[in-house]
Amino acid sequence: MKAYQIVKWGEPLEEREVPTPEPQGTEVLVRVTASGICHSDIHIWDGYFDMGGDNKLSLEARGMQLPFTMGHETLGEVVALGPDATGVEIGGKRIVFPWIGCGECDVCQRGEDLLCLAPRTVGTRYAGGYAEYCIVPHAKYLVPFADVDEPYAATCACSGVTAYSALKKLKHLRPEQHLMIVGAGGVGLAGIGMAKAVVDAKLIVADIDPAKRAAALAAGADIVIDNSDESAVASLLEKTGGGVHGIIDFVGAPASTGFAMQAAAREAKIVVVGLFGGAIPVPLASLPLRMMSLVGSYVGTLDEMHELMALVQAGKVKPVPVTSRPLREAGQAIADLRDGKAVGRYVLVN
Ligand SMILES: [Zn+2]
Ligand SMILES: [Zn+2]
Repeated sequence: MKAYQIVKWGEPLEEREVPTPEPQGTEVLVRVTASGICHSDIHIWDGYFDMGGDNKLSLEARGMQLPFTMGHETLGEVVALGPDATGVEIGGKRIVFPWIGCGECDVCQRGEDLLCLAPRTVGTRYAGGYAEYCIVPHAKYLVPFADVDEPYAATCACSGVTAYSALKKLKHLRPEQHLMIVGAGGVGLAGIGMAKAVVDAKLIVADIDPAKRAAALAAGADIVIDNSDESAVASLLEKTGGGVHGIIDFVGAPASTGFAMQAAAREAKIVVVGLFGGAIPVPLASLPLRMMSLVGSYVGTLDEMHELMALVQAGKVKPVPVTSRPLREAGQAIADLRDGKAVGRYVLVN
């Protein structure tokens, strides 16, 4: 089969002919028909996450070996089953839930695979969807999507469930309070499109790019704001009557999280999702004095994936704009995403 692989960190992906895997045990082989490109793929491609200062979290040191096939927003058709695989039929179309743990430890047993110390993530640890076929360890990780548009449904496996899980952490907001989403890129737009279905609060979207603010308004934002504007914080404090009670930072850069902390009301909860990286000084006294919470949210659970697909199928989610590109353009598409050319998501189709 053809796979589009990282052969050297940060160098263009290469189209390579590799053996089509044969499913063993409970494994399922999926013929990939749609594979989203996630912003985090750019970091994986580079081979590290920026932890601030000169600190880098190296993926090689974490055990990743090249050549590697990325792709953790994968959807396709079941074409072969391992001898012990049950729960899915040949020909079925499913989303691949990629955030898979070892399946045996305590956290995996209670469905919290994200906390597992021995993850088997499809597309970051195991070969993913930038290829014609992909192996899934067990049929329970295959999620039905009924008649939802395939390229969009694929994006639900990362950008969708990431946005959903972050929003769920702010479900306690009240209708008169404000929810602010910082960053209207791929994941941010996914969050804007489902915010009202998850959190009953007024929706503010902050982005430095006028095109993304326009996309946010079209996707359902009540108020948009340019957070690069010097008067942005003052104007937010005025518009909200003292600050924002729930903020999701889909960028995760010093400027965006710093902005979120300045715009926060007393008792605010700030959820950092974006992996742009860097570091900021946190005035520690502001946490107790303002009773503020600064928390992180990483992708989402299998249960959340099913909850999200139920909302999508019920028509309660405004899908992110998706641009389909042929699988063979994988290398160019991820380069275009890195260069900031994409509004919404690129999805490779085959
Ligand atoms: Zn992702
Ligand atoms: Zn585990």
